Amino acid sequence: MDADKISLLIEKIKDAELVLVGIGEECDINKNDFENAQTYKEIVNSLGDNAEKIIPYVKRELIETNALEVIADKSQMYQNLLKLIGEKNYFVVSLCTDGLIEKAGFAPKRIVEPCGNYNKLQCAAKCTADLYEIDEQVSKQIAKLKEKNVNVELPVCPKCGNPLIFNNIDAGSDYVEEGYLEQWQIYTKWLQGTVNRKVCIIELGVGMKFPSVIRWPFEKVAFFNQKASFFRVHSRLYQMTEEVKDKGFGIKALPDDFLKELSNRL
Ligand SMILES: [Zn+2]
Repeated sequence: MDADKISLLIEKIKDAELVLVGIGEECDINKNDFENAQTYKEIVNSLGDNAEKIIPYVKRELIETNALEVIADKSQMYQNLLKLIGEKNYFVVSLCTDGLIEKAGFAPKRIVEPCGNYNKLQCAAKCTADLYEIDEQVSKQIAKLKEKNVNVELPVCPKCGNPLIFNNIDAGSDYVEEGYLEQWQIYTKWLQGTVNRKVCIIELGVGMKFPSVIRWPFEKVAFFNQKASFFRVHSRLYQMTEEVKDKGFGIKALPDDFLKELSNRL
C-alpha cells in the first residue's frame, strides 16, 4: 500500500476544518457474506413458502447478533475511521444498509444512509410514507429459527394490509425515501458550509452502483473548492478524474485493509 499517501491523508485530516466521508458498496455486508455463513444456510433451507419474505428478517437477526464472520472486521474498520476523524467536524454519507456504522459510535446527526437500513419497516406497496417499528414478537420468532422451524407471523401494513418490509433500497421502486430525507437535508446544509473552507474528502469503497449519490458529487465538491483534498480508496475503481488530479489521490486498496494500516500510524 502507498505509505506516502497514508501519511498525506493523516496530515490533511489534521489540517482540515471539515471532513467529508463517503462509504460505498465495497464496505457493505454482501450476498456472499450471508451465503457463506452456516447458520444462514441452515435457516434459509428450513423455510417454507414464505422464505422470500422472511429472509430479510433473518439477515437483520444475523447482523444484530454479530453472527457473521465479516462483522468483526467491518466493525474494526469503523472504529479505525472514527479514530481518524472523530474529533473533527465530519459528515458521513453511506450506501451501506448493514447499519454497522451506527453501532461504532459515530454521532447519528452526522450520518446519512440514503439506501436505508434494517431499523424501520415500511408498506411494501408504499400506500403511505409512514414508517413502523419492528415488533419484538417477530424478532423473537426469527431468533428461534436458529434452533427450530417456527411459524413466523410477518407484520402487515395497518393501512392497506400489504406486508411490511424493511425501509431500505431492497424495496425497489416502492422504497420510502422519507426514511432518510431529514438527515439528507442536514447533510446538504453541512455541505454548503464547506465552501471556501479546508475540507478533506475521503471515499471508501464507493463504486459505480449509485454514482450520483457520492462519487460524482464528491468530485464536484473537490473541483470547486480550492482548499479541498480528495482521497479515493477502492480495490479497483480508485482512479481520479482529470479535473481534480492536482488535489485528488487514488489509492488501490480495500477500505478495511487501508484503514487498518492507517490506524497503526495514528
Ligand atoms: Zn400499506
